[in-house]
Amino acid sequence: MAQKSVVLMPGDGIGPEVVGATVEVVEAATAGDPAITWSEVLMGGCSIDVHGTALTDEVLAECRAADAVLLGAVGGPKWDTTDPDAPRPEQGLLGLRAGLGLFANLRPVKPPPALYGASPLREERIAGTDLLVVRELTGGIYFGERGRTDDSAYDTCPYSRDEVERLARRGFEAARGRRAKVTSVDKANVLETSRLWREVVSGLAAEYPEVELEHMLVDNAAMQLVSRPADFDVIVTENLFGDILSDEAAMITGSIGMLPSASLGAAGAGLYEPVHGSAPDIAGQGIANPIATCLSAAMMLRYSLDAPGAAARIDDAVAATLDAGVRPRDLGGDADTRAVTDAILGALA
Ligand code: NAD
Repeated sequence: MAQKSVVLMPGDGIGPEVVGATVEVVEAATAGDPAITWSEVLMGGCSIDVHGTALTDEVLAECRAADAVLLGAVGGPKWDTTDPDAPRPEQGLLGLRAGLGLFANLRPVKPPPALYGASPLREERIAGTDLLVVRELTGGIYFGERGRTDDSAYDTCPYSRDEVERLARRGFEAARGRRAKVTSVDKANVLETSRLWREVVSGLAAEYPEVELEHMLVDNAAMQLVSRPADFDVIVTENLFGDILSDEAAMITGSIGMLPSASLGAAGAGLYEPVHGSAPDIAGQGIANPIATCLSAAMMLRYSLDAPGAAARIDDAVAATLDAGVRPRDLGGDADTRAVTDAILGALA
């Protein structure tokens, strides 16, 4: 039987609540195949309290040696500070991304039919939406050279062929297991980096003849995402465009408590986490929605633990839970974390 190792980072706020629920769900969905060894570590504010830093070298080394990392969320008012020299919980996240070389951020958006009514978009527009945003995470304008004088400022947006190609490859490979369509989003009518982007993505398409490729300008993509989201399958795009488009796409589902994510590198451990933060306003009350973390664990089973069957079982159990009318508070219901978890476990059984 396959043996896999997962580093568990509950983090701060509601993190431990949603991660605890998710481990129960993963154990039930896998039933020992693969057999998962969980290793719980401190990261974020809880690590600052004990070690004075959000991410220790030992924890990073443990992540590098593992098959995957599952994170709850980090941060909270306790560690908010204006002192530039004080350690901050988010430094742990940035350290993990850099330390594990996580250049691709994957965010699936697939509103379950039972939640169509929770979306700000009309039901007939979102029906059938099942898309995946693959965003470049470690390059582009967020990492380029920048400068400032009294009355001007600049940020540069560098991309190399290799950076574009490895990201686009993730997109094509994901599309193969889905509806085989890639939409590459750029601004090639204006930006030189976008022209390089388009050239590299078009060249790579020859290696994936079964995948249909279309190019779309980012302004048009922003419009199409809310007018006909069901037409998209996989969207590949650079860091800045992906930041904006993935939040826009996320709103299609209507609640932040529902959205999973994965960050992947060339090889080695991927990082899986809900899109939401540590929700300090509801921490410790046992009412957090664990679904985004459960769906993140399903992505972990699919992309890092070679267990697509268990992943599908979790996705189906979450859908069945919502179909049965179970609603946590962020979706307007009164089911607490325990009740939602029990409903998912019940659907798995
Ligand atoms: P947040 O996502 O934590 O909370 C926003 C709102 O959504 C809150 O009202 C919260 O109660 C609600 N919410 C979030 N997740 C929920 C869930 N699973 N179930 C029910 N309700 C949920 O965002 P914020 O308030 O801007 O940030 C709070 C803290 O989290 C900050 O310290 C921020 O830096 C941190 N943060 C961390 C991450 C991360 O760890 N990746 C991401 C975003 C924010």
